[in-house]
Amino acid sequence: MKAIGDPWSFLIHQEAFFGVRRFDDFQRNLNIARNTLTDRLDTYPYALSLMKWGDEWLPHENGPPVRLRHKTCNKLLHPSAICEACRRQVRAEDISINPLSAKDPAPEDGAQVRYSSRPELYTGGRPTSVGGTLAAIGDRWGFFVLWLAFAGITKFDHFHRILGIARTTLTARLDRLVQQGLLDRLQYQDRPPRHDYHLTSKGKALCPVLLTLFDWGKGGLGTEMTDASVLHKSCGKPLRILVICENCKEVATPRDVEVVTENTRRKFSSAPKQNIAPTSSPSPLPTRTKVGARGKTMSEPR
Ligand SMILES: [Zn+2]
Ligand SMILES: [Zn+2]
Repeated sequence: MKAIGDPWSFLIHQEAFFGVRRFDDFQRNLNIARNTLTDRLDTYPYALSLMKWGDEWLPHENGPPVRLRHKTCNKLLHPSAICEACRRQVRAEDISINPLSAKDPAPEDGAQVRYSSRPELYTGGRPTSVGGTLAAIGDRWGFFVLWLAFAGITKFDHFHRILGIARTTLTARLDRLVQQGLLDRLQYQDRPPRHDYHLTSKGKALCPVLLTLFDWGKGGLGTEMTDASVLHKSCGKPLRILVICENCKEVATPRDVEVVTENTRRKFSSAPKQNIAPTSSPSPLPTRTKVGARGKTMSEPR
C-alpha cells in the first residue's frame, strides 16, 4: 500500500497552504501550480485533522502557531471529524478496524525510505502543527503500527505477523511511539518478560488523523482497501470522515477557510477556547522571519 507515502510528501507541500505568506516563492520552489495547492479539496480534511491534533497535543510557546478563520460563520475554525452517515463525532472507541487492512504494505520505495529515516524533516522551521503531527507518527510504519493499535492489536508478535516487517524495524517504531507518548508499554508476563502496547489518550486522539489519512489513501489508490476496512460502530456503516467546523457544522473547504493574520484577527470575535491565546499575547505568527528558510527546507526532500 503506497498510499500513505504519498500524503506524507504532499503534506509537506500542503503546509505552504497554511502559511500563505511568500506563497509565490513557494510555488516557484516546488513548481506546483497554485490551484493544485488551493483546490485539493480531498487533501484538505487530513491537513486540518493533523493541524488540530498538533495544536492540542504538541507544546507551543504562544499557543497554536497558525489560526484559521471559517468565513462561512466568521469564527475561528475548530475542525471536528464526524461520520458522514450519522454525523456523529468520531472517537477511537466507536470505530472497528479490520486489522487485515494493514496487511502487505508495498515494499519500501525510495520516497518512503527517505521520509522514514528523517522525521525531523516534517518540522524544520515550518509554521503549522501539521509537520509536528507527522513527526510524532514518524513514518509509514509508525502509521501502520498505530492503525493496528486502533484495530485492537496489542502484542508484538501480532503486529509483526500482520505487518511482516523486520523485528528490529518494528521494535524501533514501537519504542518511538512509546517515547512520543502515543503508546503505553505494559508488562503482562514475568518469565520471560513480555509486554503489550496500548494507545494512550494522546494516541487515541489521533483517531481522526489516521482515519482521514487512510481515507485519502483509499481514494488515491482505490485498490487494496475496501470500505469495510473501517466501520463506525455507532451507526454500523462503513466509516467515511467529514471534517466540519465545530461552530456552524459546515464542511470546511479551502475556499472558505483563511489564515488569521494580525490584521484580520481583530475583525471578529470568537468564543474563546483553550487553544486560542489571549489577544495580548505576542505575535501569533512568530515564524514570519523564517519563511525564506522554510521554502528552502521544503524543497529538500525532492
Ligand atoms: Zn456513523
Ligand atoms: Zn463555521
